[in-house]
Amino acid sequence: MKDTVGAVALDKHGNLAAATSTGGLAGQHVGRVGDSPLVGAGVYANNETCAISCTGDGECIMRANVAFNVHALVKYKSLNLHDAVVQACQDYKDKITGDRNLIALNKEGNIVFQFETNLMFRGSRKNDEVTYVAIWKEE
Ligand code: ASP
Repeated sequence: MKDTVGAVALDKHGNLAAATSTGGLAGQHVGRVGDSPLVGAGVYANNETCAISCTGDGECIMRANVAFNVHALVKYKSLNLHDAVVQACQDYKDKITGDRNLIALNKEGNIVFQFETNLMFRGSRKNDEVTYVAIWKEE
C-alpha cells in the first residue's frame, strides 16, 4: 500500500493531535524521506491553534513548510482555520509547484479538508453527529 493516511484529532481536554503515514511517491529514490514524518512540513499539531496532516507532493509540501505555516497563520495573523489553510496552500505557489492537500482541525472543533487533486478520500466524526465520508470535491 503506498497511499497516505492522515488523521487529526481533538480530545475532550482540548488536546490536538496529528498523524501522517505514507508509502511515499511512485518511482521515488531509495531512501527518500518525504514530508509525512517531518513535523512542521507534512504534519503538525499545537494545542494553541490546530492540527494538520498533509498529503500530496512531499518535496513541495516540505519546501513550503505547509503544516507549520497553517499554525503560524492562525497564531500570528489570527486567520480562521479555513483562510489559514487556503493561504498556506497558496504561499510560494509561483515558485514551488506541486499538489498540497491537507486535513486540519482547530481547538474549536472546526474541520477543513483542502485539496487540489480531483478527489481525496476523507471523513470526519464529531461527538454523536453523523459520520461524514466523501471522495469527490462536490461531496
Ligand atoms: N506526501 C507523500 C510523500 O511525498 C505522498 C502522498 O501524500 O501521497 O511522501
